Amino acid sequence: MAGKRLNPRRAKINRCYSVEEVARLYGIHRQTVRNWIKAGLPAMTGARPHLIAGTDLRAFLERRRASGKVHCGPGELYCVRCKAAREAAEGMLDYIPIASLSGNLRALCPVCSCLMHRRAGLRNLDAVRGSCTVAYPHGHERITDGRLHSLDCHSTTHRETAHDKA
Ligand SMILES: [Zn+2]
Repeated sequence: MAGKRLNPRRAKINRCYSVEEVARLYGIHRQTVRNWIKAGLPAMTGARPHLIAGTDLRAFLERRRASGKVHCGPGELYCVRCKAAREAAEGMLDYIPIASLSGNLRALCPVCSCLMHRRAGLRNLDAVRGSCTVAYPHGHERITDGRLHSLDCHSTTHRETAHDKA
């Protein structure tokens, strides 16, 4: 799914879409669309079903496409408005979990004050955040630290086992 090319222009700018309709339009899972909303795709969450404006959808997909081309260094995120990698304002990052080990980093652009997002796994968080301070949702950090450790042990064991057989 990660390498799937989604054409932003399939979204019509003069209409609104439900999560279901976006999923159908791009042949993707509804959960993917919900993840986009968590990752910063604006949705009118006051209404049910949630409605996504075609213009927002198009801009979001264009941003995703563009952000793949711009290299963000440690502590940097891609700013949609500036169309450039920017350091997090005040060195402050928010971590928003999506799955148990992956989520998004969110920060303000120091130039235009736009919200910026960057995908990050808990495993590579230290490399991604640079010298920035990361704020986690309450209680999240400690729980995942334990899980991260046991996963590492597990994968090492697994590799050794595979090696022994070979
Ligand atoms: Zn900006």
